[in-house]
Amino acid sequence: MRIVALAGGIGGARFLRGLKDVLAPGDEITVVGNTGDDIHLFGLKVCPDLDTVMYTLGGGIHEEQGWGRADETWSVKDEMKAYGVGPEWFGLGDRDFATHIVRTQMLAAGYPLSAVTEALCDRWQPGVRLLPMSDDRVETHVRITDEQGPRVVHFQEYWVRLHAAVDAEAIIPVGADTAKPAPGVLEAIATADVILLPPSNPVVSIGTILAVPGIRGAVAASPAPVVGLSPIIGGAPVRGMADKVLAAVGVEAAADAVALHYGADLLDGWLVDTADEALVGAVEAAGIACRAIPLLMTDTAATAAMAREALALAELVRR
Ligand code: GDP
Ligand code: CA
Repeated sequence: MRIVALAGGIGGARFLRGLKDVLAPGDEITVVGNTGDDIHLFGLKVCPDLDTVMYTLGGGIHEEQGWGRADETWSVKDEMKAYGVGPEWFGLGDRDFATHIVRTQMLAAGYPLSAVTEALCDRWQPGVRLLPMSDDRVETHVRITDEQGPRVVHFQEYWVRLHAAVDAEAIIPVGADTAKPAPGVLEAIATADVILLPPSNPVVSIGTILAVPGIRGAVAASPAPVVGLSPIIGGAPVRGMADKVLAAVGVEAAADAVALHYGADLLDGWLVDTADEALVGAVEAAGIACRAIPLLMTDTAATAAMAREALALAELVRR
């Protein structure tokens, strides 16, 4: 079976680890990763979501943190600070730096991001085919108003430096409108047997992937069942501040509202947590098959059970 999953960082990567646990021999997973979080720091191209997927599935992730490398040291960051060179708010450890140096070097030599990602994955062997959504530069920006007045900041500055403490007024995926899907993305979607939307951020992770012209249409047009899992449980994101970016696009932080935001043209099935069982009816009324199951990725067994339920729902709704 050919499975395609669209993925952001932590929520996507953890789900994919559970999905890998329930694969049958011969099954293969293609991951279309969000690159709207990408940022240039210290002259280096950093792809936080691609790296979170690669490190998590390749066994190099810092488990508790959910991003960056395990057993990390911070000498380079400390040395940069001694020179007074920032930003200090973005955590790049010594081991992680190597990934960004290799990536930047290859990009400078003319390789597209998709080829660079493949090369990095040669080392990490994530057990999935990891494709960036696009080889073109896309950067999510956020419009805010703070003591400096109305302004637009990079998504990472909004998320990591400002901790989404001010309201997001608009989410702008700069460059998405002219970006092309990376080689292999549309083909993978068109030939998939199942398409999954992990519990990633619906706005700045999966929303950005779907904003690349051609991708949303390909998912909606695919004969394969499309099943998503809610990142919102009991009216709140499980971790992170997804409610802030949902508000910016006028969507309530609720499991049913997120399903309706994706839309019945995109989704065939939707999983909500058992805490949100009362919302199943509203989702089904919109024409999306819905089940309530435990959706907390507390360990790999719980996550594998979620993946099994997602694949079962896909079979149920297969046309
Ligand atoms: P990011 O790029 O690192 O922010 O990661 P993603 O976009 O892939 O995932 C972030 C989303 O994952 C957040 O909205 C969280 O609510 C959601 N999430 C994290 N852990 C869990 C979990 O255990 N269960 C569910 N259902 N969602 C989760
Ligand atoms: Ca992200």
